Amino acid sequence: MTIQPTKDWAQAVAKLKVKSQAFIDGRYVAAASGKTFDCVNPGTGQVIASVAACEQEDVDRAVEVARRVFEAGTWSRLDPADRKRKMLAWASLMRDHAEELALLETIDMGKPISDSLSIDVPASINTIVWMAEAIDKLYDEIAPTGPGALSLITREPLGVVAAVVPWNFPLLMACWKLGPALAAGNSVVLKPAEQSPLTAIRIAELAVEAGMPVGVLNVVPGYGETAGKAIGLHPDIDAVTFTGSTEVGKLFLKYAGQSNMKRVSLECGGKTPHIVMKDCDDLDTAARAAAWGIFFNQGEVCNAGSRLLVDESIKDEFLEKLIAESAALMPNDPLDPGSRAGAMVTKQQMSRVLNYIKIGQEEGAELRLGGKQVRQNSGGYFIEPTIFDNVSSKMRIAQEEIFGPVLSTISFKTEEEAIAIANDTIYGLAAAVWTQNIDTAIATSRRLRAGVVWVNCFDEGSITSPFGGFKQSGFGRDKSIHAIAKYTDLKTTWIKVRKS
Ligand code: NAD
Repeated sequence: MTIQPTKDWAQAVAKLKVKSQAFIDGRYVAAASGKTFDCVNPGTGQVIASVAACEQEDVDRAVEVARRVFEAGTWSRLDPADRKRKMLAWASLMRDHAEELALLETIDMGKPISDSLSIDVPASINTIVWMAEAIDKLYDEIAPTGPGALSLITREPLGVVAAVVPWNFPLLMACWKLGPALAAGNSVVLKPAEQSPLTAIRIAELAVEAGMPVGVLNVVPGYGETAGKAIGLHPDIDAVTFTGSTEVGKLFLKYAGQSNMKRVSLECGGKTPHIVMKDCDDLDTAARAAAWGIFFNQGEVCNAGSRLLVDESIKDEFLEKLIAESAALMPNDPLDPGSRAGAMVTKQQMSRVLNYIKIGQEEGAELRLGGKQVRQNSGGYFIEPTIFDNVSSKMRIAQEEIFGPVLSTISFKTEEEAIAIANDTIYGLAAAVWTQNIDTAIATSRRLRAGVVWVNCFDEGSITSPFGGFKQSGFGRDKSIHAIAKYTDLKTTWIKVRKS
């Protein structure tokens, strides 16, 4: 997406028409209770909109509609090539509305407008396009049974899928779910996070405008404890695909057990180790990657490289470079196209992160950069890039997911020790290692317990490659053809052959 540095984005916000109701059965509706909640711009602290606060009754309605559409077959049994065309038309409309979507994302969640325009919106559109393109290229299987039978192994859509997503990449996380779930022929009920519902609400309307059947995609904004829980416990939802905290992920497993044993797939938290071996031959690039790896998106990234593991012999040199890089990532007005970091999503999240910084100091870690709230006059919620040195693996700041711009530096003496520290966490989402030795790279990446390992880079990837975690970072994968597996069931059709 082209970023127009001269565009007055603040003025563009004033002209935005924000949609804030639920989207069920092809139209905007208020919550059955009439309740709403305030949607706040974290860059200014101002209320943007009153959003429908959906609860059980609204979820019931959305599921009823989604089920009806699924059974009708207007989407689930549509010729794959037609499904593809409709999804591509939807992606194309999203492209036409890219600036609007980017603006909504930025005022809703606080990330810099340049990131929304160049990362979130294009990556979301690309996800829909890629999954749409895949639909009519997937073949099923025939089992090697022998002449007396023909055993067909086919993938079938599950039915009604609910997607429950977080606030850090609201549109992208939604599209990682919607793309494969819809491509597979399911109907979907999407619940965006209460902190960031606006883009989800808008793209559902665009789907209908693009010709997707009414009711195939429904959006129920609302709180986790009400709308989210109603989804988790719903007897007629076939699967929940969730991205969010490990704590809430575990609740969804419980809800499934208490209700209809719906399938649950979980993309949860992380505490990514970013390892720099002493033979890393480009400390400048590694330092830049380490800075971006933790401070991009204000540190509100599930795979943020929040633990820097660096060989003791190069630690001082590396930290000097890292601090210089990080100081350039001070947060600024999210609507300024020059800003490289924005606001924390809510006041509460800001307080949570500041509290972790306090805990780090109390635990005896050495604060080397940042540590404070800044830009108070804006009314928004901004925190400086913060770096701790002399952290030990057992400290809370090294173990708990802070989900903010806070880096913990831990030094090591041997590769063995680096691997042990890297794996010393309940999480296993991602890991990275910098080394110029190919054997070290391969041996280390094999032993790192993580769903994604980066070698001599950080946070790279594309829609072609799966993303997801080991351990308490969850299970099931987003992105790539593998993502489609979690929205389908395998069916065996065994046909007796009575002639040879
Ligand atoms: P969260 O778990 O608080 O909320 C996620 C979603 O769950 C929201 O829609 C929320 O309304 C809902 N929810 C909250 N409480 C609920 C309840 N009791 N019952 C049912 N639903 C409930 O997470 P968050 O704060 O929005 O997002 C941050 C978390 O998401 C971090 O832990 C981060 O690591 C994780 N995340 C993971 C990935 C990944 O791919 N692994 C990607 C992005 C974010």
